[in-house]
Amino acid sequence: MQALVVTPGTADSLELVDLPEPPESEGPVLVESLMVGLCGTDAEIVDGLYGTPPPGQDHLVLGHENLGRVRQAPAETGLSEGDLVVGIVRRPDPVPCPACADGQWDMCRNGRYTERGIKGLHGFARELWRAEPTAMVRLDPALSRLGVLLEPTTIVAKAWEQMERIGRRAWFDPKVAVVTGAGPIGLLAALLGVQRGLEVHVFDLVTDGPKPDLVRDLGAAYHTESVPESGVQGDVLVECTGVPSVVLDVMTHSAPDSITCLTGISGTGKTMPVDVAALNRDQVLSNDVIFGSVNANRGHYTAAAEALCRADPSWLARMVSRTVPLSEFAEAFAPRPEDVKVILGMQV
Ligand SMILES: [Zn+2]
Ligand SMILES: [Zn+2]
Repeated sequence: MQALVVTPGTADSLELVDLPEPPESEGPVLVESLMVGLCGTDAEIVDGLYGTPPPGQDHLVLGHENLGRVRQAPAETGLSEGDLVVGIVRRPDPVPCPACADGQWDMCRNGRYTERGIKGLHGFARELWRAEPTAMVRLDPALSRLGVLLEPTTIVAKAWEQMERIGRRAWFDPKVAVVTGAGPIGLLAALLGVQRGLEVHVFDLVTDGPKPDLVRDLGAAYHTESVPESGVQGDVLVECTGVPSVVLDVMTHSAPDSITCLTGISGTGKTMPVDVAALNRDQVLSNDVIFGSVNANRGHYTAAAEALCRADPSWLARMVSRTVPLSEFAEAFAPRPEDVKVILGMQV
């Protein structure tokens, strides 16, 4: 079968190769790949900056955002041929740590978790893959091809869940949400904010392309000025850029008692002066919470699937700016200005 592989640590090693079909040791459910979504993590792996092959191997099958169709499943798995499924990216560490033992592998304590297509496990950019039934979720068939957006939606489903749990520390009645960054994660964060009945404000630099209209068509406001310039004070804030100046803006310009979720991974090495005393004073006097959130567990996959089912399918479809056939994978990794989410079509 065809598979898109990289040699982690080696830049531009991405190639389409012929691999044997996945061994049964990967799990009893055999799944035919339909689509693989690409994101910044894949780009970093292709650039040789990130990624770990499975033990004893030098290559890694790429792809973590995925959609597949069950080809074979033993009756006891509860899955049947033809079911639409999404494989869960992160798997618990082998110890397991207390968080992983509780099914909360997104909160893993020892860093020994694995991630399909990223860290120690082959990914989904191959014609067929296998997994345990507990390592996938079945989707409503009505979602159809839009199910490829499930994995990025899990990231924001977790962020919203955590903000709401934190909110219960005291009186909590958020009205205004701020989202920084109108990439796929920011747009999905805005979608989930609108679904909660909040007044949502999305901040990004671009003035053209599909992002401003995608935001407005949600019923949210689109801003190209900075958060401080806008005067908008979020009760809840989701930071999706990882850009240091934007991170500082959301930390310092929010309503009293606000909750800020950081989801962006910043490049390190650049410094900027910060008045830590002022920052501390502002956080203390406003009861502000700033927290980080990464990855997702099974509960977030379920919550994300519900959110996607409630969303307007035509709006979700507009998030997919290009679907590139697997054979033309290099095209998919050449970014275009109008890109929002680029998908690899896996049917060869
Ligand atoms: Zn991703
Ligand atoms: Zn763990």
